[in-house]
Amino acid sequence: MGRVYNFSAGPAVLPEEVLKEAADEMLDYKGTGMSVMEMSHRSKAYDTIIKEAEADLRDLMNIPDNYKVIFLQGGASLVFAEVPMNLMKKGKAAYIITGQWAKKAAAEAEKYGEVVKVASSADKTFSYIPDCSDLDIPDDVDYVYICENNTIYGTKFWKLPNTKGHELVADVSSCFLSEPVDVSKYGVIYGGVQKNVGPSGVQIVIVREDLIADGPAFKQTPTMCDWKIQADNNSLYNTPPCYGIYICGKVFKWIKKMGGLEGMKAHNEKKAKILYDFLDESKMFKGTVVKEDRSIMNVPFVTGNADLDAKFVAEAKAAGFENLKGHRTVGGMRASIYNAMPIEGVEKLVEFMKKFEAENS
Ligand SMILES: *Cc1c(COP(=O)(O)O)cnc(C)c1O
Repeated sequence: MGRVYNFSAGPAVLPEEVLKEAADEMLDYKGTGMSVMEMSHRSKAYDTIIKEAEADLRDLMNIPDNYKVIFLQGGASLVFAEVPMNLMKKGKAAYIITGQWAKKAAAEAEKYGEVVKVASSADKTFSYIPDCSDLDIPDDVDYVYICENNTIYGTKFWKLPNTKGHELVADVSSCFLSEPVDVSKYGVIYGGVQKNVGPSGVQIVIVREDLIADGPAFKQTPTMCDWKIQADNNSLYNTPPCYGIYICGKVFKWIKKMGGLEGMKAHNEKKAKILYDFLDESKMFKGTVVKEDRSIMNVPFVTGNADLDAKFVAEAKAAGFENLKGHRTVGGMRASIYNAMPIEGVEKLVEFMKKFEAENS
């Protein structure tokens, strides 16, 4: 079977070129006579892999020197706990609730201190981003937390919240490297990589040095979750997820070749426009998010009829468009169109949707 168009929200499509390169290097990585999976994380070859990965990421995102980049394991969900463990020094944080992932992050933080939910879009099934220009944020919070792109609901903060001078912490799992970013506006940017960057299990945490200089907020913080120790050890405190980091490194190089984050942004906007333009004109399919807050990574849509949704998902699958079913908590459909989704994938999906609409109305 040939490759399908994979619209999965994560783990998700990776650049074919990267997969082929990894396949070529599977048995013998650059004359070492072994796979990257088999080599010591302290070897010279691996040292080059992880250092180049960090350097390329710094280059792509233009990460200032006073930020640490750490590659960890445990996915984004473990970072939900790492954030309060490392940053909740005054015992209080503000969370903006724009979906499941922000909710889960807040619930995890509540185990460590006081969580003040300063805004939420739960009233309309998270179909919009609340106005965050003048929130009532207590003076003594350690940070303000957002999930910048809401994978499940398909919303995106196109404007960062006014944190009233507090540190901004952002989960960017599903918009990582999708467009240029000004790292200096954040205290912490982090993500699990399996949405847009690599294989599941790896987390990338970018944190401003001064926030971790004195170590974590709680002395019981597990060493593995202690960002200072991890940063001091260049992500090699223990055996890191070596193979996953190696694939991330290849994806960074692919993005550079594709024109960096400016290139990705243009590519992603083009794809999203094709799909949203169709949703706006279709009589059968409708986007579920208010226009100004639409994500260009995750595009949820519905027909308004659950049976018709199911029929669409099944016929789409048979035609080679995989994983279009919406998240189990919301139903309908969702097309995730991350960096590695080619334009043809979206063009062909829209063609298929047009055909389905003609046949079923
Ligand atoms: C997928 C996702 C997560 C959870 O990632 P895991 O690596 O499975 O823990 C967290 N936040 C966002 C925004 C996500 O899309």
